[in-house]
Parts: sequence; structure tokens; C-alpha cells
Amino acid sequence: MENQNGPHLVLIPPPFHGHMTPMLQLATVLHSKGFSITIAHTHFNSPDPSNHPNFNFLPFFDGLSSTQITSKNFVDIASTLNCLYNLYDGFFHFIDSLAKELKLPSIVFRTTCATNFLTYHVCAHLQTKGYLPLQDCKSLDLVPELELLRFKDLPIFNLRNPHDFLHCTSKNLSITPLAVIFNTMQGLEDSSVIQLQQLHKINLFPVGPLHMIANEFNNISIMRESDGCISWLNSKARKSVLYVSLGSIASWEEKELTEMACGLANSGQSFVWVILPETVNNVSEWLESLSEDVKLGVTERGWIVKWAPQSEVLAHEAVGGFWSHYGWNSTLESLWEGIPIICQPHFGDQRVNVRLLSHVWKVGLEWCNVMERDEIEKVVRTLMVNQEGEELRERATELKHEIRLATNGSSSDALNGLVKCILSIKM
Ligand code: UDP
Repeated sequence: MENQNGPHLVLIPPPFHGHMTPMLQLATVLHSKGFSITIAHTHFNSPDPSNHPNFNFLPFFDGLSSTQITSKNFVDIASTLNCLYNLYDGFFHFIDSLAKELKLPSIVFRTTCATNFLTYHVCAHLQTKGYLPLQDCKSLDLVPELELLRFKDLPIFNLRNPHDFLHCTSKNLSITPLAVIFNTMQGLEDSSVIQLQQLHKINLFPVGPLHMIANEFNNISIMRESDGCISWLNSKARKSVLYVSLGSIASWEEKELTEMACGLANSGQSFVWVILPETVNNVSEWLESLSEDVKLGVTERGWIVKWAPQSEVLAHEAVGGFWSHYGWNSTLESLWEGIPIICQPHFGDQRVNVRLLSHVWKVGLEWCNVMERDEIEKVVRTLMVNQEGEELRERATELKHEIRLATNGSSSDALNGLVKCILSIKM
């Protein structure tokens, strides 16, 4: 194992793909900078150590709620590993006080966009000014403190009852790490990063897009990727395929999947479609239940997978559009490849991402309709064959060049700054 003598970092990701994946990517990059790495993780959705032979892995606190996790758990980790620093996902904000008890310096990694974190401040102000809870959850009025968003775009799970969200954000705002890392990049959210810098007065490091920076080193996915997808894409014309993946968490009812199947088949477009096993256990049986013409459309023009090599799919020249829920990782992955999108947000930060994609960067069609076959056929055709889709595709290509140019150098400067910051910590 390399770097065992380098300064020791413990990284603590929550067990969700959208959090675990970028944390492993960050770990890969920091390991390449000479740090010795331990990933403290839950058993649920645990990473496969054989994919990361250079890291230590430590199963940690399964089955405990945040209030049951005591400094004892943490002492165990700290003393077992003799660790010097801990780096945790902002989702686990409670780790801050435990680390303080142990006098362990900590750094927070935020896996959502910087603008989403800014909304935590904004929501706190909105609450003191009496705007929350909202009477109209679909309000299109602009948020006075952050006018790029409408009230309906705020990442509050239940806009009529924001209590839990506000409690969680106030915890997040009260933590005092040494630095905050964002998986974002220059040229995308500069004004949000600057505002956060002014509000927090600590080091912020925009080191993204980590999927690009880390993929130079190794393969990260914690799920087994289905075979065959890339060879199927190799047989398709340039920009002719729609990639459909509505998140690793969002669950769909079979009825909605059937509407999707009909809409996709009737659109006449080719598509790669991720259907998670949690949604339909036996895809072949479900396909059999569809009408003959839909079944034919899906099998002739579609490729269904349980889990796709998403970054590779989006980078493939046959892919001309993405229909997504728009988690932040998917947002970065598609922006990097210049893919225009149908954005269908479900909850939380996805609403902020979709507003940025459709209104600020103008590379996506915001689509909040019910899952109904005619609507789906229409929106797919708009993106893949109509003039409006073509304009989005051109804008996405322009933005891809802009961000690649702006990121060139800035993210590696931020990474070097992060390394320097960690190494300067006096224990
Ligand atoms: N992903 C993947 N294959 C799939 C579906 C998703 O590799 O079939 C990856 C995707 O590339 C992204 C992550 O899973 O890196 C999902 O994170 P995101 O923040 O986009 O959304 P979440 O699923 O957390 O809501």
C-alpha cells in the first residue's frame, strides 16, 4: 500500500451514490497528492475495497442515529488510525462537534452546488422576515435575496412545513470547519462562491469537476455497471441517442415506468434507459406486460440497464440528450460533455440545479409535467429533433468549451491550496 507514511486523512461519506462517489473521487485525488487515506463508511452501500487497494476501509456506525453516535465511536476511529485530520460530508454535520471534542481538525466537503449552500443562508433570512412557511408552493415570484431562484425552486422538502429543513440548515450553518470543499468549478457559480466566501470568511476550495480529475486515476462506481451499453452506443449515429436516468434514489411506480416506455417508444428516438432493480425487479417480465407495439419500440430502439457507466455514456459521441432528475453529480457530468437536457427535478437541491440549468446556463428544458405518454413523447422530440433542442445543444457545446477553459488550471490551483491548507494545520 502506497502513501502509508503520508499525513493521515479519514474521509466520512454518507452511504448514497451522490455523496459516496464524489468523496471517493476526492480521496483518489488526495491520495495522489501524498496523503494516506481511510474511508470510514456504513455497511449499507459500502464501497468495494478491492477497487481501491490504496485506501484503508473502516466500517462505522451502522444502525445508529446521529444522536446515538458519540465521541466514543469517534475515539475508536481516531485511536485505531492515529489520524490527524478528518474530512466529512456536510450531510453529516453532527461530526463537527465530535471532532471538536477530540481536538481533531475537520474540513467539510459539500457535494451539492455552492448555490444550494447559499440558499441555506437565504432561507434563514426568509424565515426571520416571515416569508416561511410558504402559502403557495408553486410560487413563481423571485426570491428577494437570491433573484435567480423562484420560491418554488428553494430546496426545502416541504415548503408548507419547512421546520425540519430549517433545523438542519441552521445546524449546517453553525458548524465551523477549517475549510469547505465544493465540487464545482470556476465559470459556473462564481457569484455564489464569492458570496459564500464573504459570509463564512474561511477557505473555500472549488476543486471540481471531480469525476474528471479523479477518473484519470481509477474507476470509482460503487455499483456494478451493466455490460454492453458502450458497444451498443458504438453502433448509433452521432447525437442520436437520449440517455435516461432519473437518479439513484428517486423511485418510480410501475405505472409511471409504463408511461415512460410508451412515450419513449412513440418518440421514435433511440435511448439508453437506466431502470434500477428497486423500481422493477424483473425487467423482462415487465416488458412482457407492455403492448406489442410499445415492446417492439423499446426493444428495437432502446437499451435498458440496471446501472450505466454514466460518465462514459455522456462522453459518447452518439449521445445527444439526457433526461435526468439532475442531482449535482449528473449536472456536472453532463455540463462537462456539453449535453442538453430534459430536467425533471424531484426534491431538494435538484430544484436549484434545474433552475441553474434552464434559466441561468440555458442548456435544459425544465419539465415538471406528470408522467404521461403523450407529454413524454412531446418533450423527447423537442429535445432530440426540434429547433429548440438544437439551440440548447449549441448552447451546451458553447458552455462546455467555456467551463473547460475556465477550469483549466483553476481547479488544480484550488486542490493545491487545499493540500497546503491541510498541511498547515498545527495539531
Ligand atoms: N450513476 C451511474 N450510473 C447510473 C446512474 C447514476 O454511474 O446508472 C452515477 C452518476 O454518474 C452520478 C451518481 O450516480 O455520479 C448520481 O449522483 P447525482 O448527484 O447525479 O444524483 P443522486 O442519484 O445522488 O440523486
